[in-house]
Amino acid sequence: MSDKFDVIVIGAGPGGYVAAIRAAQLGLKTACVEKWIDEKGAAVLGGTCLNVGCIPSKALLESTHQFHNAQHADVHGIMTSDVTMDVKKMVARKDSIVKNLTGGIAGLFKANGVTVLQGMGKLQGNKQVEVTAADGSTSTYAADNVILATGSVPVEIPPAPLTEGLILDNEGALNIDETPKRLGVIGAGVIGLEMGSVWARLGTEVTVLEAMDDFLALTDKDVAKEAAKLFKKQKLDIKLGARCTGTEIIDGKEVKVKFADAEGDKEIVVDKLIVAVGRKPQTQGLLADDSGVNLDERGFIFVNEQCETGVPGVYAIGDSVRGPMLAHKASEEGIMVADIIAGHHAQLNYDVIPNIIYTHPELAWVGKTEQELKAEGVKVKVGKFPFAASGRAMAANETEGFVKIIACEETDRILGVHMVGAIASELIGQAAIAMEFCSSAEDLQLTVFAHPTVSEAIHEAALAVDGHAIHMANRKKR
Ligand code: FAD
Ligand code: AMP
Repeated sequence: MSDKFDVIVIGAGPGGYVAAIRAAQLGLKTACVEKWIDEKGAAVLGGTCLNVGCIPSKALLESTHQFHNAQHADVHGIMTSDVTMDVKKMVARKDSIVKNLTGGIAGLFKANGVTVLQGMGKLQGNKQVEVTAADGSTSTYAADNVILATGSVPVEIPPAPLTEGLILDNEGALNIDETPKRLGVIGAGVIGLEMGSVWARLGTEVTVLEAMDDFLALTDKDVAKEAAKLFKKQKLDIKLGARCTGTEIIDGKEVKVKFADAEGDKEIVVDKLIVAVGRKPQTQGLLADDSGVNLDERGFIFVNEQCETGVPGVYAIGDSVRGPMLAHKASEEGIMVADIIAGHHAQLNYDVIPNIIYTHPELAWVGKTEQELKAEGVKVKVGKFPFAASGRAMAANETEGFVKIIACEETDRILGVHMVGAIASELIGQAAIAMEFCSSAEDLQLTVFAHPTVSEAIHEAALAVDGHAIHMANRKKR
């Protein structure tokens, strides 16, 4: 038996590395186990989020958005010609951001005294963790507390088996280094829409196949409708009710994608196909037979509201447990669990977790949709304000979309905020703060927003809840 720790975290993604840092800050002797290794055999920190998820996808989205803006700068009187994109340079920039950030976590671990254990972690009985290093050697560590933070992996589907350079998952999709002429995407979820947007901006013909008939079925209907309209304008060809049924590689360089929709069997031919049909919890090889930890019926590690498994002192967080698969949700669960282990009271408000899709314009929301609330029988008041009526949005030439605020008719408490807009990802934080403090629509009405700012749309939407928006004709009938 090797060292004993107060806390061993398995997995160094945004759930695990944040939990480890917080535990160490609270004076607990902490180790973090990570199986991912780089070419030199060192542990790769940061998980999906930093390496093949949030950060690299946003780097590519930002680069291609800047490219699009440069191409359309004439609207500001800036005349450019022959704007070109060096895709290899764009990908290299993305890689250097990833390297910088993952290296930063190694530095934070060192500064906080977190021990990194490279290898595959397996929870055994009695809170012992077996770590199998890349060379096959094993060591076993004991801990008073174990946090399982093993994240998720992409779902693969039999009709579209991953094929080097042609049929790609989200990791492969981030490394395409020349602009394909035709791109297919299976799944019109968050990842599919973001990846489709990256390449559509560079001139690729993008076709997205989505099995469901409803576009963004879990999003507020107003947001989904507006987004569908805007994506169509951007020439993202999103085919709904279209289920991929098979693929065929043609001459080793193209992919024939077969799909079925209401009209029958169809096919398209593309240069690359991205499979983005969702992610599943990563628990393979994690739990020894005597670990005592159970999975739920969908394969997630079973936990309660405080992220405790059925074994006292063993917790699980992030993508490997119920709830939205989001980096900030994973991190906040990590902080909550570290605090609980250190003996503090801690809880996470699962009702106020912002969601964002980083297309352009961005889609962002927090709280419940109008449809959910109505289905629950809650009487609501809705205020909407379009960015087209915002002076600052006009100045920025970013007038697409709106802010929608839903408040309880009886109490005036804000129950949901939904947005489509150029910087919705930044604005949604204001809505989350308001909701975390249980604000009413009137609280936002009485708040002074700086002028001219895009944020004023939140103020106006709150005023519109009671029919009092100033820069829009919306007087409530008496
Ligand atoms: P992960 O980040 O998956 O980390 C788990 C870590 O555990 C990995 O490093 C893995 O190697 C390690 N591990 C697993 N099993 C073991 C084991 N047995 N032993 C040792 N180590 C192990 N979320 C957002 O909030 N915003 C976004 O913009 C966003 N964009 C995304 C874009 C893409 C393309 C993808 C794929 C995901 C995106 N996500 C986004 C989702 C986000 O990346 C995840 O929700 C987040 O990474 C989950 O964090 P986690 O710590 O639970 O797991
Ligand atoms: P998300 O879970 O947000 O990443 O979205 C994944 C999307 O992929 C969902 O909307 C699914 O309906 C869709 N999907 C899953 N399987 C298929 C398939 N075989 N063909 C087309 N779309 C699919």
